[in-house]
Amino acid sequence: MTLLCATNNAHKLKEIRDILSSLPIKILSLNDFPRLFLPAECGSSYEENALFKARQVFYFTGIPALSDDTGLEVEALGGRPGIFSSRYAESDEERRRKLLGELHGISWEKRRAKFVCVVAFKSGKGEHLFRGEVQGFIAFEERGTNGFGYDPIFFLPEVGRTYGEMPEDEKNRLSHRFRALSQFRGWLEKNQDLLLSFSFPGP
Ligand code: IMP
Repeated sequence: MTLLCATNNAHKLKEIRDILSSLPIKILSLNDFPRLFLPAECGSSYEENALFKARQVFYFTGIPALSDDTGLEVEALGGRPGIFSSRYAESDEERRRKLLGELHGISWEKRRAKFVCVVAFKSGKGEHLFRGEVQGFIAFEERGTNGFGYDPIFFLPEVGRTYGEMPEDEKNRLSHRFRALSQFRGWLEKNQDLLLSFSFPGP
C-alpha cells in the first residue's frame, strides 16, 4: 500500500515514517509532488485542518492521504495557542520564547498543558480521524535540543524530561503523534481487505 503524507514539516514526516515503520506501507511525501501545495490552515478545529490537508492531496493525486494537525493547549492561557500553534509566532524559536514569556511568573501547577494530534486519512473509500493527546507541563526554560517545535519546553512528569531531552525513539513511543497513529494503525489492521484496493505504483 502507498500513502501520501500531507505535511511540509520534515520532522513530522520522519516521526510518522518511524512510528509506522512496522507496517508494509510506502509513505510518499510532498517532495515527490513539488507542484502540490497545502491549503492555509483556516479551519476551526484540528479535525477540519487535518481533513483539509488530506483532501487536498488526495483530490490532486488520487493517492490515499494521511495528514496531521497538532497543537499545544496551555491551561493558564485558556487553551492557547491550540489550533493557532503554528501561527503563534514566526519561527519555532520565537514561538518557544513567546510562550515562556507569557508564562513568566506562573507557578508549576498552573503550567499544565496538553499536546493534541489529529491524524486524518482520506481515500476513495472515505475519511477517518484519529486523535492522540499527551498531558504535561510547560517547563520554566528550554531543556534539550532534540525534536522540533515546542519539544524543548514540553515536560512529561511521568518521564521527568521534556520531549527535547528524549531520543527520537523514546518520543515516538509515547508522544501525542504516536497515540494518534497507533489508533490509525489499529484501524488499518482491522481493515486489511479494504487496504488491498489501495495500491499505487508511486510517482
Ligand atoms: P502543525 O500541525 O504543523 O500546524 O503544527 C503546529 C505547531 O506545533 C507548529 O509550530 C509545530 O512546530 C508544532 N508541533 C507540531 N508537532 C509537534 C511536536 O511533535 N512537538 C513539538 N512541536 C510540534
